[in-house]
Amino acid sequence: MKNSVLHVTDVHKSFGGLQALSDVDLNVEEGTTHAIIGPNGAGKSTLLNVCVGRLKPDHGHVVFNGEVLDEHTPDEINQLGVSRVFQTPEIFPDLTLLENVLIPAFASRDGSFSLRPFSKLRKETEIRDRAEQALADVGLAALKDREAAALSRGDKRRLELAMCLIQQPKLLLLDEPTAGMSRHDTNRTVDLLKTIKARGMTKVIIEHDMHVVFSLADKISVLAQGKIIASGTPDEIKGNPKVQEAYLGGAH
Ligand code: ADP
Ligand code: MG
Repeated sequence: MKNSVLHVTDVHKSFGGLQALSDVDLNVEEGTTHAIIGPNGAGKSTLLNVCVGRLKPDHGHVVFNGEVLDEHTPDEINQLGVSRVFQTPEIFPDLTLLENVLIPAFASRDGSFSLRPFSKLRKETEIRDRAEQALADVGLAALKDREAAALSRGDKRRLELAMCLIQQPKLLLLDEPTAGMSRHDTNRTVDLLKTIKARGMTKVIIEHDMHVVFSLADKISVLAQGKIIASGTPDEIKGNPKVQEAYLGGAH
């Protein structure tokens, strides 16, 4: 069995009287893509926010590579190697695409500002090259000097992905990365996520598009009303009657 990089154990989270997550357990193995699916309001984004420290669980723990994350701030969790793409892109609209990607590059673990002048210059050139490469990886190299505000919604999502990739995270969490994209852009994003997977990066992906889920996921967990109702391989999930009833039936 592969090493587990992310362990969510018995997590509960409520907002006032609303129980958004209860009894949630999740185990993400190294190098795999683990999809979380479920109807709107099931608690998927809440779970992701708990994993990156934006929300503290009322009960239970999230452990990443042996570190208990609920004791850390979101910045510390990011420094530990966890990056995320949120449901609404968080970019700097007044800056160019290249500048947007340079910000997380300089803030990341190996972007130290305390280097001596020569090595600092070399480091800066190297980081700039990496930033251009990250934009090329997501298909935005040609737009690197444009202002981010001018991008389409799909391109903003890809820019945010480049901002994550440059940090070379050990774990990448994606909240509906293809939302608002055309079929063409969705397919490009799926191809990109496959390339990232081939590099060995572990991913958790929340996704509503079943075509994307079944093209990428090694494991799928299904959330419904704040509870994990099933976890397994794509074939196991497809054949699970509880899942069909709660989610895959009807509109899907
Ligand atoms: P999903 O991502 O699966 O659509 P969410 O995790 O966004 O679901 O939401 C789960 C439930 O928690 C929903 O009923 C939502 O309205 C509620 N919720 C999410 N965030 C908050 C918040 N910050 N304050 C109050 N209620 C929230
Ligand atoms: Mg959501």
